[in-house]
Amino acid sequence: DTHKETLGFQTEVKQLLHLMIHSLYSNKEIFLRELVSNAADAADKLRFEAIGQPALLEEDPNLRIRIDFDADARTVTIDDNGIGMSRDEAIAHLGTIAKSGTGDFLKALSGDRKKDANLIGQFGVGFYSAFIVADRVDVYSRRAGLSAAEGVRWSSAGEGEFEVATIDKPERGTRIVLHLKDGEEDFADGWKLRGIVKKYSDHIGLPIEMRVERHGKDDKDDKDAVIPEWEAVNQASALWTRPKTELKDEDYQGFYKHIAHDFSDPLAWSHNKVEGKLEYTSLLYLPGRAPFDLYHRDGAKGLKLYVQRVFIMDQAEQFLPMYLRFVRGVVDSADLSLNVSREILQAGPVIDSMKSALTRRSLDMLEKLAKDKPDAYRTFWREFGQVLKEGPAEDFSNREKIAGLLRFASTHDVAGEQSIALADYIARMKDGQDSIYYLTGETHAQIKDSPHLEVFRKKGIEVLLLTDRIDEWLMGYLTEFDGKRFVDIARGDLDLGKLATDEEKEAQEASSKAKEALAGRLKAILGDDVAEVRVSHRLTDSPAILALADGAVSGQLRQLLEASGQ
Ligand code: ADP
Ligand code: MG
Repeated sequence: DTHKETLGFQTEVKQLLHLMIHSLYSNKEIFLRELVSNAADAADKLRFEAIGQPALLEEDPNLRIRIDFDADARTVTIDDNGIGMSRDEAIAHLGTIAKSGTGDFLKALSGDRKKDANLIGQFGVGFYSAFIVADRVDVYSRRAGLSAAEGVRWSSAGEGEFEVATIDKPERGTRIVLHLKDGEEDFADGWKLRGIVKKYSDHIGLPIEMRVERHGKDDKDDKDAVIPEWEAVNQASALWTRPKTELKDEDYQGFYKHIAHDFSDPLAWSHNKVEGKLEYTSLLYLPGRAPFDLYHRDGAKGLKLYVQRVFIMDQAEQFLPMYLRFVRGVVDSADLSLNVSREILQAGPVIDSMKSALTRRSLDMLEKLAKDKPDAYRTFWREFGQVLKEGPAEDFSNREKIAGLLRFASTHDVAGEQSIALADYIARMKDGQDSIYYLTGETHAQIKDSPHLEVFRKKGIEVLLLTDRIDEWLMGYLTEFDGKRFVDIARGDLDLGKLATDEEKEAQEASSKAKEALAGRLKAILGDDVAEVRVSHRLTDSPAILALADGAVSGQLRQLLEASGQ
């Protein structure tokens, strides 16, 4: 080895390492899933680069992952012939965390092991999970295209620093050797390792090989026989290419964890093969919880794009609208070129048509979940409802479909939970009611007893109570549903139309006449502080109410605008 140097981990890595080792102790075996996942990514990257530079495959075009162990030495080895790393890449990728929002993430950790273990799962534990079971990790790597003399050895005890040296490595790719901690020697066992690979990595699209267990190898007769040394222990075909009938829930769940870097199971998935004018396969997942970077501008979003099974890119954002950015999955196209770039993906008839179909599929998946598994849908709504509310503004053509998926709090449910679908509201509408009534405000507590609600209470008419920041904006785009208009009950002169009886109307007219003079005097006194003073029939107990003129900026929106300096 030459050019040895010792470097310190980035502070965030140190924190993460410490946390991981102490909070993931009950789920140790995931280290193998993470390292296999990285090896599979490395194979994907090599295949992609080899499209333009076939020489990168050298004499070794059959990509595979090999897992081996040595019980005496207490080591487990994961070896791949993928893209590999140069010395600089090893330093950058195995010494820092490049993910956006890492600082925020670390701040969100509570010190409560169980909660933190969950969070770390969401964050994606990755390579560093090796230190859950190992007290020394050696990485030997050579990047495709570099010479044998340009290999790198990276080595660390996972404590504050790591060492790098330049080494000879004739074989392309990365070999990771884990020196197991005291008490973790059980992992140096073929049966156990096979079990973990089966459990977590069966869906990986390239062979994961282990040494054939040979019994009686001292037997003379066997000496000359050709015995394969390595055998694949997984299915080794990309999951989405397999027929649905062959796949079990566990297969779909395992694959989700691989692509989404999530510990927990998805709420739903939708696997479809489209043939005809366009040909592609999609596998879309609905995660069970929001990632920590859901609201980060550069947070993870988009699908993994493959072209004819060749991995092209992660986070292809062009196939789904922003309001569905929580959907994870894979799309594999037969129509796009292998040379497709992010720029090319920006527009074009193929992309447009795939985007609208995948949007449909996602919304259908949500509809199905709402119908078949209301509990799971409630979880979805809690985690992602706010994002879905961006939909009506972004996606005009699916507005009605999206509106049907929204859930609101209303006067019907005292708990104030966002649980009411517009279809439920409509089913409860009174005879003669032709509008969907709503009221917006800061908090549920603040508006649930608003004087605006008095007349509705009296008539037993349900009113939606909207208190999310985004609601005011949402209602600017949601004008009707199922042919019924949305009416803000805090605006203008509320006309209850057919809901008022004839006697009520007569009484109202009489009282309007009688109080015209009073209204005039009040306007004279209040002057320019108000636009207008009107006789209203919407109050039953309160003497007066401040209402907004039609088209005026609401209180909630005004506060928002003021806060942003407008
Ligand atoms: P992630 O996989 O989410 O990027 P990891 O912590 O698992 O995060 O890995 C960090 C980085 O280290 C990877 O993005 C990759 O650049 C590099 N890396 C890890 N394992 C390998 C490998 N087997 N071959 C090539 N690069 C690797
Ligand atoms: Mg990884």
